[in-house]
Amino acid sequence: MSITVAKFGGTSLADANQIRKVQNILKADAKRRYVVPSAPGKRTPSDQKITDLLYLCHTHVQQSVPFDDVFQIIAQRYLEIVRDLGLQMDIRPHLEEVKRNIAAGASADYAASRGEYLNGLILAELLGWDFVDAAEVIFFDEHGIFDSEKTQAVMSERLSKHSHAVIPGFYGALPGGEIKTFSRGGSDITGAIVARGVGADLYENWTDVSGFLMADPRIVPNPKTIQQLTYRELRELSYMGASVLHEESIFPVREAGIPVRIKNTNAPEDPGTLIVRDLEPAPKTGAITGIAGRKDFTVIAIEKALMNIELGFGRKLLSILEVNNISFEHIPSGIDTMSLVIADAQLKGKLDRVLDEIRRELKPDSIEVHPNMALIATVGRGMAYTPGIASKLFTALAKENINVRMINQGSSEINIIVGVETEDFERSVRAIYAAFVD
Ligand code: ADP
Ligand code: ASP
Ligand code: MG
Repeated sequence: MSITVAKFGGTSLADANQIRKVQNILKADAKRRYVVPSAPGKRTPSDQKITDLLYLCHTHVQQSVPFDDVFQIIAQRYLEIVRDLGLQMDIRPHLEEVKRNIAAGASADYAASRGEYLNGLILAELLGWDFVDAAEVIFFDEHGIFDSEKTQAVMSERLSKHSHAVIPGFYGALPGGEIKTFSRGGSDITGAIVARGVGADLYENWTDVSGFLMADPRIVPNPKTIQQLTYRELRELSYMGASVLHEESIFPVREAGIPVRIKNTNAPEDPGTLIVRDLEPAPKTGAITGIAGRKDFTVIAIEKALMNIELGFGRKLLSILEVNNISFEHIPSGIDTMSLVIADAQLKGKLDRVLDEIRRELKPDSIEVHPNMALIATVGRGMAYTPGIASKLFTALAKENINVRMINQGSSEINIIVGVETEDFERSVRAIYAAFVD
């Protein structure tokens, strides 16, 4: 019988009312046999996420500040959920254990992971399904890198013994058994890993929007839903900020060829978005699939006469980044110019050192730093080899008087990236959307 793995995000599990919807969704289809919950998220826009509160408890302990009040808010949320669901289980000993461990100096990863752990215990009790701790089936190596092979071997063996199971999202274990989390939003990755582990036919990712939208709904009002997209397009869009699905969640399912469907817990009848390996033949329609973007980049623009014939210039420049443990986004270049586009988070506390090293080792004629840049990716398999796309995009931005500071088109031609001033970001996304979609 075919298997569906269903991952539910924080808003889908924020309170008893939402959890009932999850229960109904699972009941409605017998193929849904493995479920991956997030921690309780926001019930209203001004509410707090349990994960954020758990991180806060950890910081308080680090700074020797009492954390009882913060922990009380967390405990209250879980106690309310258990009570409102009418469950007999006693969640208090689990809450006390978590509190004790955080007080005793447990790591930030441990603290944060307990949000999904506790929610998993509750959901397993409600459904009457087995609880499988992610720390026993998801592994990281000694460098903290996800150990795909070991995980796959242990997970598939272990889950074959459970016809139905709840596996909490977001974390796994290091070789010594300590808890390690994925980056924020990482329950999406857990869902994909479980889907591969059980050889699922479908990975359903349930959230609070009816699918992958053509643009961030917080920027473009009522964007259209993307009915289908390919793994490659998804990777480009999610990496560039379409936060509906974690950018790394694509790898396990792509490897196994498992399609992903994004669905809305609050509107389960909506078809959502299907993500697949290929859509053949790739239509050369000139249509775009979606737009995504991220803020907070800095450009370091370097100019030097005859740079083009100076052998090793690029290598030396990139090795300065490597030595400083900085990864870059793009390197647009001209005959005598080379620019580095780097996320601010990467440069934090390192900019002056990097500039000094560039001056010393490469002796450029000029070096300029432009902060406050945003990158916008316009993505679509239908864009490849289609004339007129770039002109449409740049005309749309020019009409809005937006100055384009960088242009980059990937060699696959499914992606055009432009860099604009941060203050022009939202306006740019809306202008591109209007030009291609409306
Ligand atoms: P969950 O807690 O269910 O994992 P997330 O908050 O991580 O949910 O992701 C869903 C949110 O992603 C949406 O509520 C929406 O605000 C945001 N989002 C950003 N870009 C997009 C997009 N292109 N399509 C859909 N949602 C998007
Ligand atoms: N609860 C975690 C977070 O807030 C993981 C997730 O929701 O996917 O980042
Ligand atoms: Mg998410």
